[in-house]
Amino acid sequence: MTRLERDDPYLRTFVSTLDEVRFDEHGAWWRLRDSCFYASGGGQPHDEGTLSVDDAAVWRVTGVESDDEGSVWHRVDGDAEAPAVGSALSGAIDWPRRWRHMQRHTAQHLLSQAFVRLDPAFATRSVALTSPEVTVDLAGEPDDQAVAAAVRLANEVAGQALPVRWFEVDERELAAYPLRRPPKVSGRVRLVTMGDWEVSACGGTHVRSTAEALPLLQVGRERIRGGLVRVTVRAGLEAIERAQATQAAAAAAARGLSCGIDELPERMSALAAEAAAARRELAQAHKRVAQERAAALVRGPGAIVALALPSADASFATELADAIAELAATAVIGAPQGDKALMVLASGAGVDVRPALRVGLERLEGRGGGRPERAQGSGPRVEGLAEAIAAARALLDEGGERSRTQ
Ligand SMILES: [Zn+2]
Repeated sequence: MTRLERDDPYLRTFVSTLDEVRFDEHGAWWRLRDSCFYASGGGQPHDEGTLSVDDAAVWRVTGVESDDEGSVWHRVDGDAEAPAVGSALSGAIDWPRRWRHMQRHTAQHLLSQAFVRLDPAFATRSVALTSPEVTVDLAGEPDDQAVAAAVRLANEVAGQALPVRWFEVDERELAAYPLRRPPKVSGRVRLVTMGDWEVSACGGTHVRSTAEALPLLQVGRERIRGGLVRVTVRAGLEAIERAQATQAAAAAAARGLSCGIDELPERMSALAAEAAAARRELAQAHKRVAQERAAALVRGPGAIVALALPSADASFATELADAIAELAATAVIGAPQGDKALMVLASGAGVDVRPALRVGLERLEGRGGGRPERAQGSGPRVEGLAEAIAAARALLDEGGERSRTQ
């Protein structure tokens, strides 16, 4: 069979013959005499598109795989009954999908070559072209500066509009070519060249001029397993789409903060610092108020203070309980909070507050726990809050009586 896309990656339609039909759990697979549908391989995803007979019956091609004999199998979906083996078929690939794959693939070659030109240690170990985010996994641990330099170099070289060529040579002739990586096949080997800049063994589809892959946009760099660095880029249309979306988001953020886009990082750091300072100040103010309130409530060491706070002050319950405990007293604080009732108990008088919390939470049908000197919980029976506070206090009073009479 002839893989038409290998000679002309710009071929979008073709006429062929159905040679064989097979079925598996995915459905029907058709083998054609010739095809320009690219089969998944070398990191490049398969093509999609349609097959038709006489422009009437149409099947969608949703998967393409090649077998060990080099035949290409097309997974087809469609209501029409499969044509007889030997029938003539027309094929059309989803060109926008393929075009993006060609841009991604060409950009990846340029970038991989740019890395080894910067440092031979920056060898490409694997690539993924299955999404707009093209990833290149590199040895040699390139740092941020090296990645920026490689992306810039790849863009500059692409801008020279180097011709991209593809041809087959016998494996014995390979020594004449400075291959970036050795071929995975033997016998006839397909080479792809980009001017004098890049030569690799590759069976994928590429644009005919490096300029058609422009621009390359770096969108990520991260360390991954195996001591490799994964660099993520977008190419061509997909780079422009990303850049436009980023521009729009950054412009909206800059408008909101009344600054320029370039000032955003500085502005964000300043805002984060302001927010942290405000949180610290608020916490200190809460603590001061809690201490003042505790001082007014506690009559002396060993005292028991039990009260309900309004729901607006619920977030203040913990601080008040702690401030009371700091005065060697015991606190039972309750407050409605949302659709629940909250209880916080704390003691600086050596009292285990957990039994009193349990008694209170029974009235709230709630749950909670903690340490002997500090415990809290909440429950949905908000109307039982006053009763819960009273029950907890009564238990603490009893405990006080017992310890005094012992
Ligand atoms: Zn390639």
